[in-house]
Amino acid sequence: MQAIEKYRIFAVKYAHHARRSTENFIGGDAHDVPMPLDYFVWAVMGESRTFIVDTGFDPAMAAQRGRTITHSVEDGLKQIGIHADSVDDVILTHMHYDHAGNRSLFPRARYHVQDKEMQYCTGRCMCHHALSHPFEPDDVKAMVERVFEGRVEFHDGDSPITSGLSVHWVGGHSNGLQVVRVNTERGWVVLASDASHFYANIRENRPYPVVYNVGDMLEGFKTVMRLADSPQHVIPGHDPEVLQAYAPHDHETQGWIARLDIAPR
Ligand SMILES: [Zn+2]
Ligand SMILES: [Zn+2]
Repeated sequence: MQAIEKYRIFAVKYAHHARRSTENFIGGDAHDVPMPLDYFVWAVMGESRTFIVDTGFDPAMAAQRGRTITHSVEDGLKQIGIHADSVDDVILTHMHYDHAGNRSLFPRARYHVQDKEMQYCTGRCMCHHALSHPFEPDDVKAMVERVFEGRVEFHDGDSPITSGLSVHWVGGHSNGLQVVRVNTERGWVVLASDASHFYANIRENRPYPVVYNVGDMLEGFKTVMRLADSPQHVIPGHDPEVLQAYAPHDHETQGWIARLDIAPR
């Protein structure tokens, strides 16, 4: 039997947003302390294939939404030796503006999304501002164009993409949200993305307030825990703690690019 491929995983922080803890949980937070969000894209690098997980947003979108870009996604990827214009595969965990922007950065990539996410972000739910506000219409339109260009690979539920790498529908936060399971030297890591914004959401079973279906979000916490080898193998989508816990890629990228395939410190 052939060995399962192992990958290196990089978390690349590209933006930041200050906010208070009460905004990060349904029902608020009794402590109401500063609890900022970091914004990441992830790179999964194997022997033969490299996958980019989510594409971030650009400076124009940051200005429009009051976020702060700390390094461009393009520069972050260059730091780890990836040139965006040669990337073949992009996995989008979901279509929110902070995960599906930088529309022209990956001109030759094939995009992996869940059937449910395309249906959700082009369907009747988008008539409601409460559900549509995290989506950017231009990002959605770009995705529709890619469908017609033959550049989208759809997934339905659990889907093996290649040896040691699979996507899994969890829904909840966005109806077609998927997480990415990756085999590494330290075992199976799950890039949970917005299935859990912070470690606290999944560890304390406290849902994040941007949500389509709370029941699916809570079930999603269980799915993520089941897919990961341990709680230390779960990577939340927006927690600044990730950059404290994991070793930096190198001296120059201390504080913004970390290695997730090496056990946390
Ligand atoms: Zn989101
Ligand atoms: Zn997000």
